[in-house]
Amino acid sequence: MERSEAMEELSKIRILIVDDEPSLRAVLSQLLSEDGHQVVEAASGEDALEEFRKEKFQLVITDLKMDGMSGNDLLKSIKEISPDTQFIIITSYASLDTAIIALRAGAYDYLTRPFDDIDIVSTVVNRVVEKIGLLTKKRHLITSLEKKNEELAKANNFLKELSIRDSLTGLNNHRYFQEALSIEIIRSRRYEHHFSLIMIDIDHFKKYNDTYGHPAGDVLLKEISNIFKERIRKSDLAARYGGEEFVLILPETSKQNAISVAENIREQVEQHVFSGSNAQPESRVTVSIGVAGFPEDGDNASALIKYADDSLYKAKAQGRNTLCS
Ligand code: GH3
Ligand code: MG
Ligand code: MG
Repeated sequence: MERSEAMEELSKIRILIVDDEPSLRAVLSQLLSEDGHQVVEAASGEDALEEFRKEKFQLVITDLKMDGMSGNDLLKSIKEISPDTQFIIITSYASLDTAIIALRAGAYDYLTRPFDDIDIVSTVVNRVVEKIGLLTKKRHLITSLEKKNEELAKANNFLKELSIRDSLTGLNNHRYFQEALSIEIIRSRRYEHHFSLIMIDIDHFKKYNDTYGHPAGDVLLKEISNIFKERIRKSDLAARYGGEEFVLILPETSKQNAISVAENIREQVEQHVFSGSNAQPESRVTVSIGVAGFPEDGDNASALIKYADDSLYKAKAQGRNTLCS
């Protein structure tokens, strides 16, 4: 017979033999111990349950008809504690019906007594051992598949985050902004709603970089991004447009309300004490801002961006640390 891999992995198991006839228990116990299994005997269903509670068995071979707890009752109780435990039922020809009930309740097989050939017991037990091996293997496979799926999902999430985020500031990146803007335009057009676009540029940032170096400039970019994140609503979007320029999309927001938000951001930046602020003109880090409203300032993405950008340029021309719309 070709031995399966599973059988080679697991060939000896813990078996509980339950029968009120000591002679039959002794015969089975000797036979299966000689096959190398670890065998424990119990003289009743109640004793068997007590043994089982001490330590689990992979296989229970039980008589059906016993005083007190029947084989079927024992099966039910044990399956509740340990659904994977296999059962072989021993019955006489007379009670074959009950054996069928046991099979329906989840017993693996039944043996009829008297045994014509006692070796049949070894054969059936070997099949159970094989089944247990396969079940174990299947469970391992499922666990490792589940783990792999989890890892894949994590990797996918990570990749997705990478593709939509700016790694320095944690804000959305330029590409994501463009996508979100076109979606917002479609939605607002369809429902005839307003939304606003805010464009922000740090003033004299080159000077900051030149004074403190690029890494310090990076820290400032992160810090200022946090101000934007904290100021906007969950439904708004903040993105790094490029370099030291940022954009905010404020859905369902009129231009007038967006101007208030933008003005508030401008003030917060002006008041925030960034390290090294004193080297900047007027000893503080400031931003210039342009605001555009949909649809009045542009009914498509490029027109809206151009309006916000032109406004921003005006703010720069007016001396910076200001807002134009
Ligand atoms: P303005 O007030 O007119 O906006 O002047 P500015 O100096 O801010 O503008 P300019 O466009 O002359 O310089 C932008 C600077 O931003 C230059 C560039 O090195 C710096 N910059 C762009 N991206 C990064 C970055 O990722 N990290 C750092 N540290 N600096 C950056
Ligand atoms: Mg700038
Ligand atoms: Mg710039």
